[in-house]
Amino acid sequence: MRAGGWRPTPFRDVVLKVHQRCDLACDYCYMYTMADQSWRDRPRVMARETWLAAAGRMAEHARIHKLDAMRLVLHGGEPLLAGTDRLGRLVSDFRDAFDGLCRLRIRMQTNGVRLTADVLDTLYEQGVTVGVSLDGSPVDNDRHRRRADGKSSFAAVDRAIRLLSAPEYRSAFAGLLCTVDPDTDPVACYEALIQYGPPTIDFLLPHANWLDLPKRAAGAGPTPFGDWLVKAFDRWSGAPREETRVRLFEDVIGLILGGRGRSEQIGLSPVAVVVVESDGAIEQVDSLKSAYHGASATGLTVFANTLDQALEHPGIVARQIGLAALSATCRDCPEHTICGGGHYAHRYRPGTGFLNPTAYCADMLRLVQHVKRRVHADVDIDNLRARLETNP
Ligand code: SF4
Repeated sequence: MRAGGWRPTPFRDVVLKVHQRCDLACDYCYMYTMADQSWRDRPRVMARETWLAAAGRMAEHARIHKLDAMRLVLHGGEPLLAGTDRLGRLVSDFRDAFDGLCRLRIRMQTNGVRLTADVLDTLYEQGVTVGVSLDGSPVDNDRHRRRADGKSSFAAVDRAIRLLSAPEYRSAFAGLLCTVDPDTDPVACYEALIQYGPPTIDFLLPHANWLDLPKRAAGAGPTPFGDWLVKAFDRWSGAPREETRVRLFEDVIGLILGGRGRSEQIGLSPVAVVVVESDGAIEQVDSLKSAYHGASATGLTVFANTLDQALEHPGIVARQIGLAALSATCRDCPEHTICGGGHYAHRYRPGTGFLNPTAYCADMLRLVQHVKRRVHADVDIDNLRARLETNP
């Protein structure tokens, strides 16, 4: 491939696993309830020497590839379990490593339970934006996102998101992340989320694959997740004014119009994300942990290896070569340039690895074809394409 002119895409996003435990026990969590259990053997919390090495590797990568910006995502487990002081020091060390080099955006993805005004003050001062996970109304959210003792998490998260959406912190509000449950009402879920005025919503399909199949209720139709997303799409796109951005829906529309996808869930764009675990291991995207134990490992660490070495790992290459990494079934599918085979982690099947359509294939097809019909009804696609080609 290199001889043919292909070059890896430098990493833009580094996900830092600052803490390996969580104060919630969501029943769909890939980290604790699915195949990979490596969290048990890693340090609970990332040590300063580890994040300093990670910051050095990230800055080195930005320098080598002359990047104008990179993004650090503070992740866990639950990153706020690391403590505000430690997080403050960590952020300041990363800012120092990037001083005079290039822009460093820093985002935290949290369950929100510990997101108090004190914590937000620190994050806000240090320019960290915050995304919170919430699955809709109190009842819908608490179907899956409960504490270890089974108690509700909703009240604490609701308080945190209200705080985050208040004028003084609003610019730090990155958005809401919602995992789809086809047994909930998609319109009610969407409307519960937009009450907080999130700048974006990410709808995610629960991690599954051909061994650990998507959970469908008895008697559900063939595409319950696709049907849910279609109803949410119609509610979102039918609003008289833009209420929020929904990345998955915008990506599908963008791909239909010939653009590029931005998320891992859809499209054929190269994935430029790498993970650094709390012990300094450099890994592929975390969601692969849902497939089998060790699925995300590369054997590299920030102490001994560069991020460029990770770019050579076959698992990372497979995420960057688009069409060439698709199964024969997907290559023959009329929607493959839009769907892109679906989420990579969801393609896993013992024996054929990731060379399969996603286990949500029928659901993806339902969503893509529905949005396509809607876009074609609203837009003269051929005319638009011709205009884009004339004025790229
Ligand atoms: S809809 Fe199914 S067959 Fe088509 S590209 Fe997506 S996963 Fe592959």
